[in-house]
Amino acid sequence: MRPLTTAELFQVWETGLDQSMASRALTLLQAANPELDGRALAALSVGERDGLLLTLREWTFGARLTALAACPQCQEQVEFEFEAKSIRAPALLPANPAAAERQPSGDGQPAQFQTVVAAAGGDPDRQNPVEVSFRLPTAADMVALAGAGVSAGIEPRTWLLQHCILSAASEGQLLPVTELPQAVIEAVVARMAELDEQAAVELALTCPSCGRQWAETFDILAYFWSEIQRWAQQILVAIHTLARAYGWREADILALSPRRRQIYMQMVTT
Ligand SMILES: [Zn+2]
Repeated sequence: MRPLTTAELFQVWETGLDQSMASRALTLLQAANPELDGRALAALSVGERDGLLLTLREWTFGARLTALAACPQCQEQVEFEFEAKSIRAPALLPANPAAAERQPSGDGQPAQFQTVVAAAGGDPDRQNPVEVSFRLPTAADMVALAGAGVSAGIEPRTWLLQHCILSAASEGQLLPVTELPQAVIEAVVARMAELDEQAAVELALTCPSCGRQWAETFDILAYFWSEIQRWAQQILVAIHTLARAYGWREADILALSPRRRQIYMQMVTT
């Protein structure tokens, strides 16, 4: 992966205008990873995707992030700042047992995992351990989920589980995925979260007004995209202003360094 030029980011923004948020993630990553096949990017787990987006955001707008959240108790708007590295989950190194669970996968195929769940609960027929084979939700799943491919009325979580749980068996007998006990489903969801930590980032916040502490979900994709939108508006104003003042072409204005663009803008507008 490499950083995007101003012109490339501007093009990504324009392409992304008509896309779902999930597709924008792939548009961004494809532009920054021109050497990679689109299928390889689509097969990234959501956490892997978000880890790359976080890196790209650091390269584009810096390592410091500022966000707003409403206190759940007093509704005060709390502004908070944090470093990108503080929300980066450790990578799945070979020494990590989770990495060892990965089955070898073909090119562009999501990695597969196995887990054994001791099916708890009162049902004596379900006391035997259930072996579940699953894969992690991918960037492609998120695109499908956002698109027309998912019929209305199906919960996103249910849809994801139906696609990500590949098989389940107890004592050699295959179990229909749609009939798995809730305890098994919950165990698989928890295992997915452990294996793909970057997919769900939570920030521990404290309200300065009332002292309430809570965990706020942080979505790097939505955050980064809203920054790109604000940035693109500024670029449009700069192109419009400088083109009119100096007669420069759009490509030339995009090729200016941010500092020089800003200095010319100040000279034209003051
Ligand atoms: Zn508060």
